[in-house]
Amino acid sequence: MSIELIRDIKISILEGKYKCISAYKIPNDIEKWKNCSLCGLKPLTWTFNNGASTACGCGESEYRHFSINTESIMSHVSRNNGSALHYNSNKLLENWNHWVETNEELETHQSLIENGYW
Ligand SMILES: [Zn+2]
Repeated sequence: MSIELIRDIKISILEGKYKCISAYKIPNDIEKWKNCSLCGLKPLTWTFNNGASTACGCGESEYRHFSINTESIMSHVSRNNGSALHYNSNKLLENWNHWVETNEELETHQSLIENGYW
């Protein structure tokens, strides 16, 4: 993990550049995450019961902001009778980097809800 990269992100958080609540944290593999093509920030991430989401500087406020999403491990486990088998823990990273490169969302919030993955 790059110490300079982490320091720069922490400064951006302190400067209020991130539009999210404090539950969003710097991912452990932050160097793999591309910079947002719109605001230029690396994303923070939060995994909770219903899903996993990113936050960057895009959005109106800490409660109304842009996110790339995927299913959370908790949701996967409850859909699969308690098994975490086949859960892709890199999916949020893959969805994020794909969106940065192509502007396409692999899993929209809407599609996750419709498929019972949220
Ligand atoms: Zn952004």
